Amino acid sequence: MIVEQIWTGNSYRNFNYLIACEETGETLAVDPLDHRKCLAAAKDRGWAITQIVNTHEHGDHTGGNAAMIAATSAKLLAHENAKDRIPGIDRGLAAGDVIKVGKTVELETLDTPGHTMSHVCLLAHSDFPALFCGDTLFNAGAGNCHNGGHPSELYDTFASQLDQLGEATSIYPGHDYITNNLEFTLDREPDNQQAKQLLENIRDQDPEQALVTTLGLEREINTFFRLQNPSVIARLREAFPDLPDEPDAKTVFLRLRELRNDW
Ligand SMILES: [Zn+2]
Ligand SMILES: [Zn+2]
Repeated sequence: MIVEQIWTGNSYRNFNYLIACEETGETLAVDPLDHRKCLAAAKDRGWAITQIVNTHEHGDHTGGNAAMIAATSAKLLAHENAKDRIPGIDRGLAAGDVIKVGKTVELETLDTPGHTMSHVCLLAHSDFPALFCGDTLFNAGAGNCHNGGHPSELYDTFASQLDQLGEATSIYPGHDYITNNLEFTLDREPDNQQAKQLLENIRDQDPEQALVTTLGLEREINTFFRLQNPSVIARLREAFPDLPDEPDAKTVFLRLRELRNDW
């Protein structure tokens, strides 16, 4: 499996992805908003884009579909419940569905509600584990729930699915928000030395060569995975004096998500 992360350079800071089979050159495009850049990158590599996956229905993820399909005749895949909101879906996806790309790539569909209620993440079962997580999980952060989502479902997705994945899983999110998110982590947990160090290292990074984190690193630097951390809880109590003595993980997640809305 070869993954190409494509930086769109737009104001929403979207990342698009090409996932290719190194044997056949068949390629799947994830949320190819910048269809020109995606097509140019595929052409450069001699790859043929045969499938598109939309992680969810928002326009900054689906906006390249029509042009990409016109150029490649690729099939369009998205959550089965997104059919009314994404025109032209060829294959509706449900939890556990496997998407094959060429001979070497298998992507498992995870049904991951929260950011919207028809959101999928793709988990690669190939030579290295990787998660394409759209707007559910970001580097050092979590998706918002303002446009069709629910924080409590987002928590369930984090706890019952994402947090179950292996440490080595590479994380490929739909946007580059790492700087803001690390600043939020440090606002919530000022003594997180690893987050501090990472922020110094990536503050001026070129998004064309963005850091790819792993789930192991996310567990260290992403406040939405650090729900039982004593500093996080102590600091949260300053904002929410009614917080119970030993708040459960879900309560902490929901309060953090609430604070992040106004960050
Ligand atoms: Zn979105
Ligand atoms: Zn988005």
